[in-house]
Amino acid sequence: MATFSLENFGCRATEADAAAMRRALRSAGWTMRDQHDSADVVVLNTCTVTSAADSQARDAVRKIHRAHPAARILVTGCYAQRAPEDLAQLPGVSWVVGNSHQTEIPRLLREMFAPGPGHADGSVADSPGEILDRTPARDFVPLAALDTEPMSLARGPAKILTGDIFAQTTLQVNPREGIPADRTRPILKIQDGCNNRCSYCVIPFVRGRSRSLPPIEVLGEIQKLVAAGAKEIVLSGINLGSYGRDLAPRVELADLVRCILNQTALEQLRFSSIEPQDITEDFVALATASPRIAPHFHVPLQSGADRILRAMHRWYRAAHYAERIQLIRSALPDAAIGADVIAGFPGETDEDFAATFAFIARLPFTYLHVFSFSARPGTRAADLGAPVSLAVTRDRARALRTLGQQKAAAFRELQTGRTLRALTLARGGATWTEALTGNYLKVRVEGPRPANQWCEARINSAQEAAAREEALSSRR
Ligand code: SF4
Repeated sequence: MATFSLENFGCRATEADAAAMRRALRSAGWTMRDQHDSADVVVLNTCTVTSAADSQARDAVRKIHRAHPAARILVTGCYAQRAPEDLAQLPGVSWVVGNSHQTEIPRLLREMFAPGPGHADGSVADSPGEILDRTPARDFVPLAALDTEPMSLARGPAKILTGDIFAQTTLQVNPREGIPADRTRPILKIQDGCNNRCSYCVIPFVRGRSRSLPPIEVLGEIQKLVAAGAKEIVLSGINLGSYGRDLAPRVELADLVRCILNQTALEQLRFSSIEPQDITEDFVALATASPRIAPHFHVPLQSGADRILRAMHRWYRAAHYAERIQLIRSALPDAAIGADVIAGFPGETDEDFAATFAFIARLPFTYLHVFSFSARPGTRAADLGAPVSLAVTRDRARALRTLGQQKAAAFRELQTGRTLRALTLARGGATWTEALTGNYLKVRVEGPRPANQWCEARINSAQEAAAREEALSSRR
């Protein structure tokens, strides 16, 4: 039976896409391998949010091809959607499939392994650079049901399948198989795409306009996941706060959450990132009232200087953002609050950076995700001029990361002595198991334990927790 391995790069949305691809390939009869060296086909799901993400994907292709020259490589994801020709030229790549056609991957792989040089529907490009725009196929034929032959090792040039991402109007979820042992907290992507145009961001160009999974389907997916054993589900989206605005009738995220709480037996719900303008009083009140919602908010900031926020085409100013964070903190004193911030945006002066640093320093963040600015082709920020030098960007990013670590340590210190409910993860040793609290603290509990079990975790000293965290990170 044909085998595949899958490596994912990027955010929670790409993780959800990767999980959907794994499921689709398995239901089509493919066997998954953990290691690339035992797989007939290696699927790489790429990210393109920064130039570093692009390099990482290209390096991965080269490395895999060097180590396993017989493996066919299929590259998909955001980089594949943005610049398919770049990837098609890399050695070992057989297919480049954009986000627009990701649901067709089982069919493409089936055809790759089918006898003869042609393709069943004759629709696929045979030369590099040709881009086809087709309606995604919805029905996967199980591999076992086909008259397949062993793969021919003769290869042509890489083929490209991608199309107009903005033409997509619906969001599809693939059938689920249960909870894999290594993913105790399944991510459910309920929204994709984004209608905003932040000047630095390439994501709308590779993910298209915002589209949401109708509530009935969200509830169905959650019920299936709960029946399969999920205790916590992470709701994710590219712009999660905009959930439901494309649906008719329009639905608010808070209303969807109420339905989930009322109509499913899910024990804990967590949200991925939510833009500050969507952190409303109603939403915070809902999270405060329900112990089934993890007290954890991730609210992208990007800059604390209004001049830079304006140039970024962000639609709030620092004072509005601060109000939303204070709203969360007054309602939920022990909640985790995280933010994304960009260092070195074009035109960011020392004063702008100092304003950002001071702004972050005085807000009650419990962790930070820091990114160095990277010009993305086709975005407005790429043409803004006044670039910040690499060295200055690096220094600013380093200073922000240090600040983030200090804030994380201070939060752990504040939580010391509390006993919190935590969900065991799949990592552990002979005498311990890693677990995650509702407010996003990683802890160690005693003894080897199965993943996906609730336990009580006493938060010890900040230093001890940090050391544990370090030890755990070095194992990843
Ligand atoms: S909100 Fe802005 S940063 Fe986020 S995906 Fe949309 S355009 Fe990009």
